[in-house]
Amino acid sequence: MAIQRPKGTQDLLPGTIEQWHYLEETIRRVCRDYGYEEIRTPIFEATELFQRGVGQTTDIVKKEMYTFLDKGDRSMTLRPEGTASVCRAYVEDKLYGQPLPVKLYYQGPMFRYERPQSGRFRQFHQFGVEVLGADQPLVDAEVICLVWDLYQRLGLSGLEVHLNSVGCPTCRAAHREQLHKFLEERKSELCQDCQERYERNPLRILDCKNPHCQAVTEGAPTTLDTLCDGCRSHFDNVLSLLSGAGVSYKVNPRLVRGLDYYTKTAFEVMVEEIGAQSAICGGGRYDGLVEEIGGPATPGIGFAMGLERVLAALQVQGKFPEAKPKLFAMLVALGDKAQNEGFALMNALRGKGIPVQMDLLGRSLKAQMKAADREGAEFALILGEEELERQVLLLRDLTSGEQTEVPLPKAIEVVYSKYQRGV
Ligand code: ATP
Ligand code: MG
Repeated sequence: MAIQRPKGTQDLLPGTIEQWHYLEETIRRVCRDYGYEEIRTPIFEATELFQRGVGQTTDIVKKEMYTFLDKGDRSMTLRPEGTASVCRAYVEDKLYGQPLPVKLYYQGPMFRYERPQSGRFRQFHQFGVEVLGADQPLVDAEVICLVWDLYQRLGLSGLEVHLNSVGCPTCRAAHREQLHKFLEERKSELCQDCQERYERNPLRILDCKNPHCQAVTEGAPTTLDTLCDGCRSHFDNVLSLLSGAGVSYKVNPRLVRGLDYYTKTAFEVMVEEIGAQSAICGGGRYDGLVEEIGGPATPGIGFAMGLERVLAALQVQGKFPEAKPKLFAMLVALGDKAQNEGFALMNALRGKGIPVQMDLLGRSLKAQMKAADREGAEFALILGEEELERQVLLLRDLTSGEQTEVPLPKAIEVVYSKYQRGV
Protein backbone atom coordinates (compact mmCIF):
# COMPACT_ATOMS: atom_id res chain seq x y z
CA MET A 1 0.00 0.00 0.00
CA ALA A 2 1.17 3.49 -0.76
CA ILE A 3 2.55 5.37 2.20
CA GLN A 4 0.36 8.11 3.58
CA ARG A 5 1.22 11.29 5.44
CA PRO A 6 0.91 11.13 9.23
CA LYS A 7 -2.50 11.82 10.76
CA GLY A 8 -3.11 15.49 11.51
CA THR A 9 -0.59 16.76 8.94
CA GLN A 10 -1.20 18.39 5.58
CA ASP A 11 0.48 18.74 2.21
CA LEU A 12 0.30 22.39 1.23
CA LEU A 13 -0.03 22.19 -2.53
CA PRO A 14 0.25 24.64 -5.42
CA GLY A 15 -3.15 26.25 -5.69
CA THR A 16 -3.38 26.88 -1.95
CA ILE A 17 0.23 27.72 -1.23
CA GLU A 18 -0.37 31.13 -2.86
CA GLN A 19 -2.79 31.86 -0.03
CA TRP A 20 -0.07 31.01 2.47
CA HIS A 21 2.38 33.28 0.68
CA TYR A 22 -0.15 36.12 0.72
CA LEU A 23 -0.76 35.69 4.44
CA GLU A 24 2.94 35.32 5.28
CA GLU A 25 3.86 38.38 3.22
CA THR A 26 1.15 40.49 4.83
CA ILE A 27 2.45 39.40 8.24
CA ARG A 28 6.01 40.35 7.26
CA ARG A 29 4.90 43.76 6.12
CA VAL A 30 2.96 44.51 9.31
CA CYS A 31 5.89 43.38 11.46
CA ARG A 32 8.29 45.54 9.51
CA ASP A 33 6.00 48.55 9.87
CA TYR A 34 5.85 48.02 13.65
CA GLY A 35 9.59 47.50 14.04
CA TYR A 36 9.58 43.76 14.81
CA GLU A 37 12.43 41.60 13.55
CA GLU A 38 12.27 37.94 12.60
CA ILE A 39 13.83 35.21 14.72
CA ARG A 40 14.16 31.55 13.63
CA THR A 41 14.79 29.01 16.35
CA PRO A 42 15.26 25.22 16.02
CA ILE A 43 12.28 22.97 15.29
CA PHE A 44 13.32 20.75 18.21
CA GLU A 45 14.62 21.71 21.63
CA ALA A 46 15.60 20.02 24.89
CA THR A 47 12.36 18.72 26.42
CA GLU A 48 13.14 20.51 29.66
CA LEU A 49 12.73 23.88 27.96
CA PHE A 50 9.02 23.25 27.42
CA GLN A 51 8.53 21.55 30.77
CA ARG A 52 9.78 24.70 32.44
CA GLY A 53 8.75 27.30 29.87
CA VAL A 54 5.24 26.08 29.07
CA GLY A 55 4.60 24.42 32.43
CA GLN A 56 4.18 20.89 33.76
CA THR A 57 0.49 21.36 34.49
CA THR A 58 -0.54 22.44 30.99
CA ASP A 59 -2.27 20.21 28.43
CA ILE A 60 0.63 20.82 26.08
CA VAL A 61 3.26 19.36 28.39
CA LYS A 62 1.03 16.75 30.00
CA LYS A 63 -0.28 15.14 26.85
CA GLU A 64 0.49 16.89 23.59
CA MET A 65 4.26 16.82 23.10
CA TYR A 66 6.18 14.89 20.46
CA THR A 67 9.08 13.79 22.64
CA PHE A 68 11.84 11.38 21.66
CA LEU A 69 15.29 10.28 22.72
CA ASP A 70 17.98 11.12 20.20
CA LYS A 71 20.87 8.77 19.51
CA GLY A 72 22.81 10.38 22.35
CA ASP A 73 19.97 9.54 24.77
CA ARG A 74 18.94 13.17 25.18
CA SER A 75 15.25 13.88 25.52
CA MET A 76 14.20 16.16 22.67
CA THR A 77 10.80 17.61 21.77
CA LEU A 78 9.38 19.00 18.54
CA ARG A 79 8.41 22.52 19.48
CA PRO A 80 4.73 22.77 20.47
CA GLU A 81 4.87 26.60 20.60
CA GLY A 82 7.32 29.45 20.08
CA THR A 83 7.55 31.56 23.22
CA ALA A 84 9.82 29.27 25.25
CA SER A 85 12.33 29.03 22.40
CA VAL A 86 12.39 32.79 21.86
CA CYS A 87 13.00 33.37 25.58
CA ARG A 88 15.76 30.75 25.55
CA ALA A 89 17.40 32.50 22.61
CA TYR A 90 17.03 35.86 24.35
CA VAL A 91 19.07 34.47 27.25
CA GLU A 92 21.47 32.22 25.33
CA ASP A 93 22.26 34.75 22.60
CA LYS A 94 22.35 37.61 25.12
CA LEU A 95 19.79 39.67 23.23
CA TYR A 96 19.32 41.68 26.45
CA GLY A 97 22.59 43.41 25.51
CA GLN A 98 20.69 45.19 22.70
CA PRO A 99 18.67 48.37 23.16
CA LEU A 100 15.44 47.39 24.91
CA PRO A 101 12.78 46.38 24.31
CA VAL A 102 13.69 43.55 21.96
CA LYS A 103 10.80 43.13 19.51
CA LEU A 104 10.75 39.80 17.68
CA TYR A 105 8.42 37.76 15.51
CA TYR A 106 8.44 34.22 14.15
CA GLN A 107 6.47 32.07 11.72
CA GLY A 108 6.65 28.34 11.33
CA PRO A 109 5.37 24.86 12.07
CA MET A 110 4.47 23.69 15.59
CA PHE A 111 3.70 20.13 16.69
CA ARG A 112 1.11 18.88 19.15
CA TYR A 113 -0.24 15.39 19.61
CA GLU A 114 -3.93 16.27 19.55
CA ARG A 115 -7.07 14.69 18.19
CA PRO A 116 -7.16 15.96 14.59
CA GLN A 117 -10.37 17.76 13.62
CA SER A 118 -11.39 20.82 11.69
CA GLY A 119 -9.03 23.65 12.71
CA ARG A 120 -6.91 21.33 14.84
CA PHE A 121 -3.85 19.57 13.46
CA ARG A 122 -0.78 17.78 14.73
CA GLN A 123 1.49 19.90 12.61
CA PHE A 124 0.16 23.43 12.30
CA HIS A 125 1.62 26.87 11.77
CA GLN A 126 1.87 29.84 14.04
CA PHE A 127 2.86 33.44 13.63
CA GLY A 128 3.84 35.02 16.92
CA VAL A 129 5.54 38.06 18.38
CA GLU A 130 7.40 38.52 21.65
CA VAL A 131 8.48 41.81 23.22
CA LEU A 132 11.12 41.43 25.90
CA GLY A 133 12.38 44.02 28.34
CA ALA A 134 9.43 46.40 28.70
CA ASP A 135 6.64 46.32 31.27
CA GLN A 136 4.64 49.40 30.28
CA PRO A 137 0.95 49.12 29.31
CA LEU A 138 2.02 50.77 26.03
CA VAL A 139 3.64 47.51 24.98
CA ASP A 140 0.55 45.43 25.74
CA ALA A 141 -1.49 47.86 23.66
CA GLU A 142 1.01 47.89 20.79
CA VAL A 143 1.04 44.11 20.55
CA ILE A 144 -2.76 43.91 20.48
CA CYS A 145 -2.91 46.75 17.93
CA LEU A 146 -0.50 44.80 15.72
CA VAL A 147 -2.90 41.84 15.71
CA TRP A 148 -5.85 44.11 15.04
CA ASP A 149 -4.04 45.91 12.25
CA LEU A 150 -3.07 42.64 10.59
CA TYR A 151 -6.72 41.55 10.53
CA GLN A 152 -7.72 44.96 9.13
CA ARG A 153 -5.16 44.67 6.36
CA LEU A 154 -6.40 41.19 5.55
CA GLY A 155 -9.94 42.55 5.41
CA LEU A 156 -11.31 40.19 8.06
CA SER A 157 -14.43 41.18 9.94
CA GLY A 158 -16.54 39.80 12.78
CA LEU A 159 -13.58 39.35 15.08
CA GLU A 160 -13.75 39.73 18.84
CA VAL A 161 -10.80 40.62 21.04
CA HIS A 162 -11.30 39.17 24.52
CA LEU A 163 -9.21 40.75 27.25
CA ASN A 164 -8.51 40.05 30.87
CA SER A 165 -5.91 40.65 33.55
CA VAL A 166 -4.73 37.72 35.65
CA GLY A 167 -2.77 40.04 37.96
CA CYS A 168 0.66 39.50 39.49
CA PRO A 169 1.80 36.85 42.01
CA THR A 170 0.68 39.11 44.87
CA CYS A 171 -2.91 39.69 43.77
CA ARG A 172 -3.15 36.14 42.45
CA ALA A 173 -2.48 34.78 45.94
CA ALA A 174 -5.49 36.73 47.20
CA HIS A 175 -7.59 35.43 44.32
CA ARG A 176 -6.49 31.86 44.91
CA GLU A 177 -7.64 32.06 48.48
CA GLN A 178 -11.07 33.43 47.53
CA LEU A 179 -11.47 30.89 44.75
CA HIS A 180 -10.58 28.03 47.07
CA LYS A 181 -13.17 29.25 49.52
CA PHE A 182 -15.80 29.50 46.78
CA LEU A 183 -15.08 26.04 45.40
CA GLU A 184 -14.61 24.24 48.71
CA GLU A 185 -18.15 22.87 48.84
CA ARG A 186 -18.54 22.47 45.08
CA LYS A 187 -15.27 20.67 44.52
CA SER A 188 -16.74 17.20 44.18
CA GLU A 189 -18.93 18.33 41.27
CA LEU A 190 -15.92 19.33 39.15
CA CYS A 191 -14.44 17.14 36.41
CA GLN A 192 -11.41 14.97 37.18
CA ASP A 193 -8.98 17.46 35.63
CA CYS A 194 -10.42 20.34 37.63
CA GLN A 195 -10.24 18.38 40.87
CA GLU A 196 -6.53 18.10 40.22
CA ARG A 197 -6.33 21.77 39.29
CA TYR A 198 -8.01 22.65 42.58
CA GLU A 199 -4.80 21.90 44.44
CA ARG A 200 -2.15 22.78 41.89
CA ASN A 201 -3.58 25.53 39.77
CA PRO A 202 -7.17 26.51 40.67
CA LEU A 203 -7.18 29.51 38.33
CA ARG A 204 -7.36 27.18 35.34
CA ILE A 205 -10.68 25.81 36.57
CA LEU A 206 -12.24 29.06 35.31
CA ASP A 207 -10.94 28.16 31.86
CA CYS A 208 -12.31 24.58 31.77
CA LYS A 209 -14.29 23.85 28.59
CA ASN A 210 -16.49 21.26 30.36
CA PRO A 211 -20.01 22.80 30.48
CA HIS A 212 -20.65 21.22 33.87
CA CYS A 213 -17.55 22.86 35.38
CA GLN A 214 -18.61 26.13 33.80
CA ALA A 215 -21.97 25.89 35.55
CA VAL A 216 -20.36 25.01 38.88
CA THR A 217 -18.01 27.99 38.69
CA GLU A 218 -20.74 30.45 37.66
CA GLY A 219 -20.29 33.51 39.85
CA ALA A 220 -16.84 32.45 41.11
CA PRO A 221 -14.49 35.30 42.07
CA THR A 222 -12.37 36.37 39.11
CA THR A 223 -8.86 37.78 39.07
CA LEU A 224 -10.33 41.16 38.16
CA ASP A 225 -12.01 41.22 41.59
CA THR A 226 -8.70 41.03 43.42
CA LEU A 227 -6.29 43.09 41.28
CA CYS A 228 -3.78 45.10 43.33
CA ASP A 229 -3.52 48.83 42.62
CA GLY A 230 -0.56 48.40 40.25
CA CYS A 231 -2.22 45.68 38.18
CA ARG A 232 -5.53 47.53 38.13
CA SER A 233 -3.99 50.70 36.79
CA HIS A 234 -1.92 48.73 34.25
CA PHE A 235 -5.11 47.08 32.98
CA ASP A 236 -7.10 50.34 32.87
CA ASN A 237 -4.27 51.92 30.95
CA VAL A 238 -4.19 49.13 28.37
CA LEU A 239 -7.95 49.44 27.89
CA SER A 240 -7.82 53.17 27.38
CA LEU A 241 -4.92 52.92 24.92
CA LEU A 242 -6.87 50.32 22.92
CA SER A 243 -10.00 52.46 22.89
CA GLY A 244 -7.92 55.41 21.71
CA ALA A 245 -6.53 53.26 18.88
CA GLY A 246 -10.01 52.21 17.78
CA VAL A 247 -9.64 48.56 18.75
CA SER A 248 -12.95 47.10 19.90
CA TYR A 249 -12.59 44.60 22.70
CA LYS A 250 -14.59 42.79 25.29
CA VAL A 251 -13.39 42.30 28.86
CA ASN A 252 -13.77 38.61 29.64
CA PRO A 253 -12.95 37.83 33.28
CA ARG A 254 -12.96 34.08 32.59
CA LEU A 255 -10.12 34.23 30.10
CA VAL A 256 -7.04 32.93 31.91
CA ARG A 257 -3.51 31.89 31.29
CA GLY A 258 -2.93 29.91 34.40
CA LEU A 259 0.79 29.63 35.03
CA ASP A 260 2.69 31.47 37.74
CA TYR A 261 4.80 33.33 35.24
CA TYR A 262 1.82 34.63 33.30
CA THR A 263 0.98 38.07 34.59
CA LYS A 264 -1.45 40.90 33.98
CA THR A 265 -2.82 41.11 30.43
CA ALA A 266 -4.25 37.98 28.79
CA PHE A 267 -6.09 38.11 25.48
CA GLU A 268 -7.59 36.00 22.76
CA VAL A 269 -9.13 36.77 19.37
CA MET A 270 -12.16 34.76 18.30
CA VAL A 271 -13.99 34.44 15.01
CA GLU A 272 -17.27 32.56 15.06
CA GLU A 273 -17.58 31.59 11.41
CA ILE A 274 -14.81 28.99 11.37
CA GLY A 275 -16.56 26.52 13.66
CA ALA A 276 -15.82 25.11 17.08
CA GLN A 277 -12.11 25.99 17.00
CA SER A 278 -12.84 29.69 16.96
CA ALA A 279 -9.71 31.08 18.68
CA ILE A 280 -7.36 32.42 16.05
CA CYS A 281 -4.92 34.12 18.38
CA GLY A 282 -3.94 33.91 22.04
CA GLY A 283 -1.44 35.89 24.03
CA GLY A 284 -0.50 37.74 27.13
CA ARG A 285 2.14 39.05 29.44
CA TYR A 286 4.66 36.69 31.05
CA ASP A 287 6.85 38.79 33.33
CA GLY A 288 8.19 35.72 35.17
CA LEU A 289 9.06 33.45 32.24
CA VAL A 290 12.59 34.49 31.28
CA GLU A 291 13.70 34.09 34.90
CA GLU A 292 11.94 30.71 35.07
CA ILE A 293 14.15 29.37 32.28
CA GLY A 294 17.32 30.70 33.88
CA GLY A 295 17.69 34.23 32.52
CA PRO A 296 17.73 37.67 34.12
CA ALA A 297 14.39 38.96 35.41
CA THR A 298 12.77 40.34 32.25
CA PRO A 299 9.21 41.39 31.54
CA GLY A 300 7.73 39.94 28.37
CA ILE A 301 4.55 39.87 26.36
CA GLY A 302 3.52 38.13 23.15
CA PHE A 303 0.93 36.18 21.26
CA ALA A 304 0.65 33.26 18.88
CA MET A 305 -1.75 33.05 15.97
CA GLY A 306 -2.90 29.87 14.28
CA LEU A 307 -2.39 30.42 10.55
CA GLU A 308 -4.64 27.54 9.41
CA ARG A 309 -7.49 29.18 11.31
CA VAL A 310 -6.75 32.64 9.88
CA LEU A 311 -6.77 31.10 6.39
CA ALA A 312 -10.07 29.38 7.16
CA ALA A 313 -11.54 32.76 8.15
CA LEU A 314 -10.18 34.35 4.95
CA GLN A 315 -11.75 31.55 2.93
CA VAL A 316 -15.14 31.80 4.62
CA GLN A 317 -15.16 35.57 4.15
CA GLY A 318 -13.80 35.36 0.58
CA LYS A 319 -10.97 37.77 1.26
CA PHE A 320 -8.15 36.51 -0.90
CA PRO A 321 -6.88 38.94 -3.53
CA GLU A 322 -7.23 37.77 -7.11
CA ALA A 323 -4.20 35.77 -8.19
CA LYS A 324 -2.18 37.57 -10.86
CA PRO A 325 -0.82 35.52 -13.77
CA LYS A 326 2.82 34.77 -13.16
CA LEU A 327 3.93 34.10 -16.70
CA PHE A 328 4.87 36.84 -19.16
CA ALA A 329 5.77 34.83 -22.23
CA MET A 330 5.58 31.24 -23.44
CA LEU A 331 8.33 30.21 -25.79
CA VAL A 332 6.80 27.94 -28.40
CA ALA A 333 9.49 25.99 -30.27
CA LEU A 334 8.90 23.39 -32.97
CA GLY A 335 11.55 20.89 -34.06
CA ASP A 336 14.90 19.98 -32.54
CA LYS A 337 16.90 22.88 -33.89
CA ALA A 338 14.31 25.47 -32.91
CA GLN A 339 14.10 23.84 -29.50
CA ASN A 340 17.83 24.29 -28.92
CA GLU A 341 17.79 27.87 -30.14
CA GLY A 342 14.61 28.55 -28.16
CA PHE A 343 16.07 27.12 -24.97
CA ALA A 344 19.01 29.53 -25.24
CA LEU A 345 16.66 32.45 -25.91
CA MET A 346 14.47 31.51 -22.92
CA ASN A 347 17.51 31.48 -20.65
CA ALA A 348 18.69 34.84 -21.91
CA LEU A 349 15.24 36.30 -21.19
CA ARG A 350 15.15 34.68 -17.74
CA GLY A 351 18.57 36.20 -17.12
CA LYS A 352 16.89 39.58 -17.55
CA GLY A 353 14.31 38.69 -14.91
CA ILE A 354 11.46 38.00 -17.32
CA PRO A 355 9.13 35.09 -16.41
CA VAL A 356 9.31 32.82 -19.46
CA GLN A 357 8.62 29.11 -19.87
CA MET A 358 8.75 26.62 -22.68
CA ASP A 359 7.18 23.26 -23.35
CA LEU A 360 9.24 20.43 -21.83
CA LEU A 361 7.42 17.54 -23.47
CA GLY A 362 7.98 18.16 -27.20
CA ARG A 363 4.27 18.77 -27.80
CA SER A 364 2.46 20.05 -30.89
CA LEU A 365 2.01 23.73 -31.76
CA LYS A 366 -1.65 23.53 -30.76
CA ALA A 367 -0.89 21.99 -27.38
CA GLN A 368 1.83 24.55 -26.71
CA MET A 369 -0.45 27.47 -27.56
CA LYS A 370 -3.11 26.03 -25.29
CA ALA A 371 -0.60 25.82 -22.44
CA ALA A 372 0.38 29.47 -23.06
CA ASP A 373 -3.27 30.44 -22.61
CA ARG A 374 -3.77 28.30 -19.56
CA GLU A 375 -0.73 29.80 -17.84
CA GLY A 376 -2.00 33.31 -18.56
CA ALA A 377 1.00 34.32 -20.70
CA GLU A 378 0.76 37.73 -22.36
CA PHE A 379 2.86 36.74 -25.34
CA ALA A 380 3.74 33.62 -27.27
CA LEU A 381 7.25 33.66 -28.77
CA ILE A 382 7.01 31.27 -31.68
CA LEU A 383 10.05 29.70 -33.27
CA GLY A 384 9.65 26.99 -35.95
CA GLU A 385 12.09 25.56 -38.48
CA GLU A 386 11.01 28.11 -41.06
CA GLU A 387 11.42 31.09 -38.68
CA LEU A 388 14.81 29.78 -37.71
CA GLU A 389 15.81 29.64 -41.35
CA ARG A 390 14.77 33.25 -41.81
CA GLN A 391 16.29 34.23 -38.41
CA VAL A 392 13.05 35.71 -37.08
CA LEU A 393 10.82 35.19 -34.05
CA LEU A 394 7.04 35.46 -34.20
CA LEU A 395 5.72 37.53 -31.36
CA ARG A 396 2.03 36.98 -30.77
CA ASP A 397 0.12 39.21 -28.36
CA LEU A 398 -2.27 36.70 -26.76
CA THR A 399 -4.74 39.37 -25.68
CA SER A 400 -5.18 41.13 -29.03
CA GLY A 401 -4.14 38.24 -31.28
CA GLU A 402 -1.83 40.61 -33.13
CA GLN A 403 1.32 39.00 -34.48
CA THR A 404 4.62 40.62 -35.47
CA GLU A 405 7.96 39.39 -36.71
CA VAL A 406 11.13 40.33 -34.91
CA PRO A 407 14.67 39.67 -36.20
CA LEU A 408 16.15 37.00 -33.89
CA PRO A 409 19.20 39.09 -32.88
CA LYS A 410 16.79 41.80 -31.68
CA ALA A 411 14.40 39.42 -29.87
CA ILE A 412 15.77 39.90 -26.37
CA GLU A 413 15.68 43.67 -26.65
CA VAL A 414 12.13 43.78 -28.03
CA VAL A 415 10.66 41.32 -25.50
CA TYR A 416 12.44 43.10 -22.66
CA SER A 417 11.03 46.48 -23.65
CA LYS A 418 7.49 45.04 -23.85
CA TYR A 419 7.96 43.44 -20.46
CA GLN A 420 9.13 46.70 -18.89
CA ARG A 421 6.16 48.57 -20.30
CA GLY A 422 3.90 46.04 -18.61
CA VAL A 423 5.47 46.22 -15.15
P1 ATP B 1 -6.96 25.65 21.87
O1 ATP B 1 -7.77 26.06 23.05
O2 ATP B 1 -7.67 25.84 20.56
O3 ATP B 1 -6.35 24.29 22.02
P2 ATP B 1 -4.48 26.75 22.76
O4 ATP B 1 -4.80 27.51 23.98
O5 ATP B 1 -3.90 25.40 22.88
O6 ATP B 1 -5.77 26.70 21.79
P3 ATP B 1 -2.29 28.44 22.07
O7 ATP B 1 -1.28 27.52 22.63
O8 ATP B 1 -2.60 29.70 22.78
O9 ATP B 1 -3.63 27.65 21.78
O10 ATP B 1 -1.91 28.76 20.54
C1 ATP B 1 -2.29 29.95 19.88
C2 ATP B 1 -3.13 29.67 18.65
O11 ATP B 1 -2.58 28.61 17.87
C3 ATP B 1 -4.54 29.22 18.92
O12 ATP B 1 -5.37 30.32 19.19
C4 ATP B 1 -4.92 28.54 17.62
O13 ATP B 1 -5.30 29.52 16.66
C5 ATP B 1 -3.62 27.92 17.20
N1 ATP B 1 -3.58 26.49 17.53
C6 ATP B 1 -3.31 25.90 18.72
N2 ATP B 1 -3.33 24.56 18.63
C7 ATP B 1 -3.61 24.28 17.32
C8 ATP B 1 -3.75 23.06 16.57
N3 ATP B 1 -3.58 21.85 17.12
N4 ATP B 1 -4.05 23.15 15.24
C9 ATP B 1 -4.22 24.35 14.65
N5 ATP B 1 -4.09 25.53 15.30
C10 ATP B 1 -3.78 25.50 16.62
MG1 MG C 1 -4.66 23.48 22.87
